Amino acid sequence: MVNAEIEHMERMLSRLKLTAIRDQLDNLLEEAGRKELNLREALAFLCEAEIARKDQRRITMGLSIAKFPHVRTLEAFDFDAQPSVDARQVRELATCRWVANGDTLLLLGPPGVGKTHLAVALGREAITQGYSVLFCSAGPLVASLAKAATEGRLEERLLHYTKPKLLIVDELGYLPFEPNAAHLFFQLVSRRYERGSVLLTSNRSVGEWGEVFGDPVVATAILDRLLHHSHVITIRGESYRLREKKRSGLLRPDAMTSKRE
Ligand code: ADP
Ligand code: MG
Repeated sequence: MVNAEIEHMERMLSRLKLTAIRDQLDNLLEEAGRKELNLREALAFLCEAEIARKDQRRITMGLSIAKFPHVRTLEAFDFDAQPSVDARQVRELATCRWVANGDTLLLLGPPGVGKTHLAVALGREAITQGYSVLFCSAGPLVASLAKAATEGRLEERLLHYTKPKLLIVDELGYLPFEPNAAHLFFQLVSRRYERGSVLLTSNRSVGEWGEVFGDPVVATAILDRLLHHSHVITIRGESYRLREKKRSGLLRPDAMTSKRE
């Protein structure tokens, strides 16, 4: 192609926002030629390259919007080390059917057993599959709702937490002593009810939530909605990190405690 033709081609691809094809056109055409693709196959090959780039962009953007505290993946989760977690159930959850249905997922268990790890990993899967996700810790979440309420911006704040298809609320069980915490959380759960999914992690059993919320009546109303369409994974056992340390001989077995790492 002469220069003018190349420029014309690039302008058309830019206008169509086919930037992956535009940026790699020579390489892609060369490869299509090498593979002796016919026109139809070559067109499919170019579309695949464009889609791959767009998917990658969407995932990168989704991950930055989700505000995960760190990178944790299902591949990095050691199922052998955690026999109380059913790998098959987690793989089924990784299909994100529960997110499509707007179900709730509860991950319960003592500190250090991998609740946040699984929450982040499943959140990443949801993003990969095109769902919007927001990760937050229960304490700051309730504190931000309480602050918004005093400033007359509660509606706006509730909307912020209602929009994502999946809201991950980590560490329920260490709520701040906001007098209004239970009511604020109830409002959020009601808004999301049957609209979007909630993934909650907690070191407290569901039976203790009355105490967590400081109000058994509101806690029952919250649970009523959350448990309506829900999946529960209860993780037992000892903290993963302490276990690893014990295994490597850094800790004596009798030094094991259940305190937070
Ligand atoms: P929790 O949220 O239950 O307190 P975390 O998910 O924060 O526990 O786990 C503590 C640390 O141990 C994290 O760095 C996490 O990645 C790691 N971890 C926990 N369980 C596993 C596991 N089964 N396989 C790999 N890493 C794990
Ligand atoms: Mg955690």
